[in-house]
Amino acid sequence: MKISTETIELRLRHTFTIARSSRTHVPVVILTIEHGGLCGYGEASPSTRYGETPETVLSFLSTLERGLPADPGDLPGSFPASAEGNRSAVAAIDIAVHDLAAKSRNLPVWRMLGLPEPVPRPTSLTIGIDTPEVMRQKVREAASFRVLKVKAGIEDDIRLIELIRKSTDKPIRVDANEGWKSREVALEKVRALAELGVEFIEQPMPSSCLGDIAWLREKVDVPFIADESLRTAEDIPALRDAFDGINIKLMKCGGLGPACALIDAAHKASMKVMLGCMIETSVGISAAAQLLGTAEYVDLDGNLLISNDPFTGAVADSGMLYASSGSGIGVARRPA
Ligand code: MG
Repeated sequence: MKISTETIELRLRHTFTIARSSRTHVPVVILTIEHGGLCGYGEASPSTRYGETPETVLSFLSTLERGLPADPGDLPGSFPASAEGNRSAVAAIDIAVHDLAAKSRNLPVWRMLGLPEPVPRPTSLTIGIDTPEVMRQKVREAASFRVLKVKAGIEDDIRLIELIRKSTDKPIRVDANEGWKSREVALEKVRALAELGVEFIEQPMPSSCLGDIAWLREKVDVPFIADESLRTAEDIPALRDAFDGINIKLMKCGGLGPACALIDAAHKASMKVMLGCMIETSVGISAAAQLLGTAEYVDLDGNLLISNDPFTGAVADSGMLYASSGSGIGVARRPA
């Protein structure tokens, strides 16, 4: 088995601003494993929120020289305590092993895992925080999308979302990225957003404020989705009072295996599932698209926000996301 890694600076189409950061480029690490004439691809999009960088990813992946299991079923026990703080690196491994294993069986990953068929679903397109002019421009550029997700969590956010509400009648999802720090401020914001008819609000307050989020949820009718509050399936019982659903990202939970466990746990707890992403290439997005048949909400637009995706795979057409029909996760390198 040959294992190789490659760091790529993804170029963002627009400077991407959320409550805690502003970026023009995002580094990701592509992992390729070659075995029996086949290639399995994985990706890590490291998150600075969890202390990850391309260097921590490469350092974790360099420990793999001894090789990887050929069967994804052998994966979970392979990464002991060292996986904490390295979830995106673990996701890269998990995705590459699933891709290779499914390719060797000539099956798409969803079929290998016995998951429901990934039916095409509307994906939201995310609009970062910007000036009113640029945000209106982004809404125009999102003409083919049926649902918009707007980043919030700053002082001026309600005014900006009002502007967007006036320029489109599409469903709007709001992601505060933990930006509202007191429950009084959050209540004011959430009530204003309820008036504007938003579909749901993601992570209204910091993950450390679970009690405050549960307090807020009692007072309004808008569903709350947990993102930063959720890492693993063990978190779910504690989140039930505060949230209506969870945002599952392969980079945050460690790949397709952990994501399937999260989906099961959420549905058993009567919570909704949203498939989310980081800024990623078509490798990460196409892997997540294998789960399209399992989720109530889809927000898989990370590859659409960049201008130098080295891969093709899952396709967004007229705002609908289609999983690739190929074997594995269904990605191919774009011709240079
Ligand atoms: Mg989020």
